[in-house]
Amino acid sequence: MIIVLKTHATDADIQSVSELVRTLRYQPRVIRGVERTVVACIGDELSNRSLEVLGNLPIVESVMPVQQRYKLVSREYHPDDTVITVNGTPIGGGAIAIIAGPCAIETADQFRSAVRDLKAAGVTLIRAMAFKPRTSPYDFQGLKADAISIMRDVKAEFGVSMVTEILGPAQVEMVHDTADVLQIGARNAQNYDLLESVAQARKPVLLKRGMASTVEEWLAAAEYLLVNGCSNVMLCERGLRSFDKSVRNLLDLGGVAVAKQETHLPVLVDPSHAAGKRSLVLPLAKAALGAGADGLVIEAHPNPNEAYSDAAQQLPSATFKQTLDELAPWIALARASR
Ligand code: PEP
Ligand code: MN
Repeated sequence: MIIVLKTHATDADIQSVSELVRTLRYQPRVIRGVERTVVACIGDELSNRSLEVLGNLPIVESVMPVQQRYKLVSREYHPDDTVITVNGTPIGGGAIAIIAGPCAIETADQFRSAVRDLKAAGVTLIRAMAFKPRTSPYDFQGLKADAISIMRDVKAEFGVSMVTEILGPAQVEMVHDTADVLQIGARNAQNYDLLESVAQARKPVLLKRGMASTVEEWLAAAEYLLVNGCSNVMLCERGLRSFDKSVRNLLDLGGVAVAKQETHLPVLVDPSHAAGKRSLVLPLAKAALGAGADGLVIEAHPNPNEAYSDAAQQLPSATFKQTLDELAPWIALARASR
């Protein structure tokens, strides 16, 4: 069972609830978030007394069974859509968010041109990747610290918000003053230590689904973020590894529809990493909006053919306005139907 305490619970309240939990022969595990504290109770519910009685305490908001591996992310717990606002741009709750930018920050000129083009097309949330998780150690790994200073300059020039991927806990501090959204990539989707460190930064988080994660594992990973104090979490489906190499990854739109039913968190789709090639990005983006996605993450580069990574799938940033014009009817329908 988990015991959710009211928002104003004091240390003394937490201690007295924990004591009562011990009296009932369970081991309390206190998890302190920004908005609420949760006491997870570990013990054998068949042989011990029921914890439900604690629901009568004035400081307890609810006592819930942990039949599922997630609670705080569930619609059962929070029926209304969560809307995350990043520097004035809403994500979730009917606002269709567009996050776009190159696969990686390569040079100051490349990143600046991409952001100039994207901002002119109306994009305010920018992919700004300093650290790249690459399958081969011989591939471009990102400019790292140099990319962060490029990101800082470009942000100051264009006033856009930066979404950046974190590969390890030490990077959280490095990007803290510059990044607006921290991304956990598919390869780290179940790196629980990293999820806890990123949650502690108290910034919005974009959590990709692992390439072989079930929807339940994806939502349970989001639960790690929420229970550790990060309430602004957006999920992102980016395709699963499959037997069929005709697409890079198999975009699981069924999983998107399930996630939309199961959770109040915004669910985005990254058609670029699913498609693996330019001509498939728009069809997948349209399908994602039809399946209920709250937004899209699209790779765009000023000169895609010369990109250091993911050259085949990046759209040209110079024509991103046309890209959005082509998506406009699907975006309008998605807005009207959420
Ligand atoms: C990315 O978005 O830069 C990325 C590496 O994607 P994924 O983690 O989905 O592979
Ligand atoms: Mn990429």
